Amino acid sequence: MGGVTLLDAVVVGSGPNGLAAAVTLARAGLGVRVLEAQPTIGGGARTLPVPELGGDLLFDLCSAVHPMAWASPFFRAFDLPAHGVELVAPEVAYAQPLGGDRAGIAWRDLARTADGLGADGDAWRDLIRPLAESWRQVTALALGDKRTVRGMLEGVRDHGAHASETWGLASLVRPGLRFGAALLEQGGPRWERRFLTEEAKALLTGVAAHAITPLPSYAGAGTALLLAALAHADGGWAVPVGGSQAITDALVRDLRAHGGTVETGRPVDAWRDLPPARAVLFDTTPTTVLRVLGDRIRAPRRAALRRFRYGNAAAKVDFVLSGPVPWAAPDVGRASTVHVGGTRAEMVIAEDAVAHGVHPDHPMVLLSDPGVADPGRVRGATRPLWTYAHVPAGSTHDLTEAVTRQIERFAPGFRDVVVGARCIPADQMQRHNQNYPGGDISAGAASMWQMIARPTLAPDPYQVAEGVYLCSASTPPGPGVHGMGGWHAARRALVREFDVRHVPGLAPG
Ligand SMILES: Cc1cc2nc3c(=O)[nH]c(=O)nc-3n(C[C@H](O)[C@H](O)[C@H](O)COP(=O)(O)OP(=O)(O)OC[C@H]3O[C@@H](n4cnc5c(N)ncnc54)[C@H](O)[C@@H]3O)c2cc1C
Repeated sequence: MGGVTLLDAVVVGSGPNGLAAAVTLARAGLGVRVLEAQPTIGGGARTLPVPELGGDLLFDLCSAVHPMAWASPFFRAFDLPAHGVELVAPEVAYAQPLGGDRAGIAWRDLARTADGLGADGDAWRDLIRPLAESWRQVTALALGDKRTVRGMLEGVRDHGAHASETWGLASLVRPGLRFGAALLEQGGPRWERRFLTEEAKALLTGVAAHAITPLPSYAGAGTALLLAALAHADGGWAVPVGGSQAITDALVRDLRAHGGTVETGRPVDAWRDLPPARAVLFDTTPTTVLRVLGDRIRAPRRAALRRFRYGNAAAKVDFVLSGPVPWAAPDVGRASTVHVGGTRAEMVIAEDAVAHGVHPDHPMVLLSDPGVADPGRVRGATRPLWTYAHVPAGSTHDLTEAVTRQIERFAPGFRDVVVGARCIPADQMQRHNQNYPGGDISAGAASMWQMIARPTLAPDPYQVAEGVYLCSASTPPGPGVHGMGGWHAARRALVREFDVRHVPGLAPG
């Protein structure tokens, strides 16, 4: 090698999956270097000042709300609180304003949620309580590798500090059947049969809409059931104190403590950009892997990766407010996360328009008010407000006015508290993260097919060539800050490239 040091592993990209992979490898005693294209570390988990908005407040550039940062098997093993990250959950996990004082409210307390849903209380309890009670198994199934029994079980074994909690396959059967039955019901036309009230219908539909698919859909139902269950489980819809960057910083601290390094401003566009290493893990899109590896990938896998499809998009709109959002329904203001989409029918129309390449009149808006759970995010009277709206892939539209109008419908007077706003249109999202082509924040369409067979149907969804792995949200289990793609891929690399068969512990100490 002419004096060039051969690294054990290079990770391309410092998103939560890339860092999860890097930490896992470094903790196994390997030499790891992370190469990040952007000037700052963290990909979809960064919190930064926005100079156009005054630079005083900190904004989550992408992710803001983190049920999976305490519930995912990777993060349960890593144990963010033990790594100094304070996760706080508001008493209302998420809310769905419906106009006037009407709203669906998902309290952390399931019984209170059901009571608030009146005639639909029992129907909500019957659907969500069994999933909330078995959230560990449901999470392990939803965040597994979607291929092998081992890949599902590895999510419920080896839980670091929680290692006493081990389950066999049998323990997954009942929760798996319940989750499957609920998914079939809520993902198809039968979703109309469960609830009578608009509050309950819209409350669950708002969570399903995270998938950015026409509704109902199985991908939307899977998303809704997992996230709705976690709202009532141990950690709720948590917000890290200080913002999502706290998660990234904890991972980077741990990586460095175990000898790993991170280099920013290091885009990998070609094979020659990579230092020599025994293994390379890409926290990137399949498109990037195809470009960098070219015919190092065998032809059938190359062809399969080329068929990977990206989905519709989000346009981000951040606001600076001079006070809280004046929600007409007061309990909505107790939620960090608000789904601003109106009724189920309105959300169906909005998502259908996006699927047909049209900007809806009333777009589906996801809103996070971090100051509700983390008052440290508020400076005097001014506070950051994080929103994004669903739009067709590649949209160039500035959504500031559409989002403002949509919030104003449920919070009359909202305009009066807005002191600044800036939009990142969907086609610009890629400028701060190559993994979101055309604004696809899921790094791949969330069709049911691609939620299972992502990025291809290969028995191993992670290894793409000898010594090369894909580990981003374009692999199972898909989008979200859970670190599972990185963890699954790193564990395979440990066995195959380094013959390390024990899973390194991740908890501090
Ligand atoms: C607006 C928005 C809101 C979201 N809200 C939430 C939320 O509230 N909760 C939640 O759980 N999830 C949320 N998500 C999704 C979540 O952020 C992502 O699914 C998650 O970050 C994916 O992690 P990752 O590691 O796979 O990729 P990313 O976090 O996207 O990181 C990929 C990294 O790789 C780098 N990279 C890419 N290509 C190259 C290259 N060629 N060379 C070098 N570096 C490269 C990128 O710069 C980036 O830093 C949101 C996403 C967006 C965009």
